Amino acid sequence: ISAHLAPEDAAVEYSLRPRFLSEYIGQERVKENLRVFIEAAKMRREALDHVLLYGPPGLGKTTLSVIIANELGVNLRATSGPAIERPGDLAAILTNLEEGDVLFIDEIHRLPRAVEEVLYPAMEDFALDIIIGKGPSARSVRLDLPPFTLIGATTRAGLLSSPLRDRFGVVVRLEYYTEDELVLILLRAADILGVRLREDGAREIARRARGTPRVANRLLKRVRDFAQVSGDGVITGAVARDALERMQVDPMGLDAIDRKLLLSIIDTFGGGPVGLETMAATIGEEPHTIEDVYEPYLLQIGFLQRTPRGRVATPLAYQHFRREVPRT
Ligand code: ADP
Repeated sequence: ISAHLAPEDAAVEYSLRPRFLSEYIGQERVKENLRVFIEAAKMRREALDHVLLYGPPGLGKTTLSVIIANELGVNLRATSGPAIERPGDLAAILTNLEEGDVLFIDEIHRLPRAVEEVLYPAMEDFALDIIIGKGPSARSVRLDLPPFTLIGATTRAGLLSSPLRDRFGVVVRLEYYTEDELVLILLRAADILGVRLREDGAREIARRARGTPRVANRLLKRVRDFAQVSGDGVITGAVARDALERMQVDPMGLDAIDRKLLLSIIDTFGGGPVGLETMAATIGEEPHTIEDVYEPYLLQIGFLQRTPRGRVATPLAYQHFRREVPRT
């Protein structure tokens, strides 16, 4: 169960998305601050300052951008870094914005360099610099854009070039959710989907959801299938536990790749330290996927440590896999 979005789940994901800050569970400090910034922008009748959202996949960055647009009462245009190939593509999007609109760019770190450069004057001065003509007669013309709010999303702020990062007035880091918050998210989702979920069932699922709402919602849908086929459709703690065990979601929520990653450090590299590239090659994953998707959670639960010489499996990880902790 990965936090990446599969197309078949996109429609359900859409229906589960909170629309307003009051429905958005957790991330309390982030919500409090955003509420103030949104209110102030509305009072001044100005566009909200540009917002950078960063954190692992599935924590609610897209959701938050939709909410910000709703709270501001403006349109949202959503696109992604890899989808904007040429400067002209971005220029077309920018010139179609209305005053105060929100432009959401997911995976903003993947914008091509030439496109990123179009963004600088757009963000800073709401202007678009266009080159007309070729060769010696070429000249640059500046077009005015309506004031707008750019919301960029990325897994790690460090992936952005510093000129781009510096142009965001509001930088928000999303954190993993607590078990209690995930329980609330699951109960809300069950309500919307018409699933009969008991609190103890929600807790079982929350515990194995890697602190991630997208994973929690996806586990809920799979557990519902088990509850329907082999029970009366009600998800109790026992039903959830049984279903999750059958799906081989382990008690810490680790999936096959997490296990492979940790076990390769433990068994192949004697617990580490091992470099990112070497580890990636050993388990056949891209280094950046490991860094953006898998590692943050393993670091968070204390199974993995980053040292200057590489990644190290911690005694907690050894215990989890029932391996004897090597003596040093
Ligand atoms: P990201 O853009 O960070 O990958 P999304 O915004 O797409 O994550 O969130 C994934 C799903 O998780 C959404 O469909 C939504 O249902 C759910 N979700 C995320 N954050 C929350 C939250 N704070 N409260 C309730 N549901 C949430």
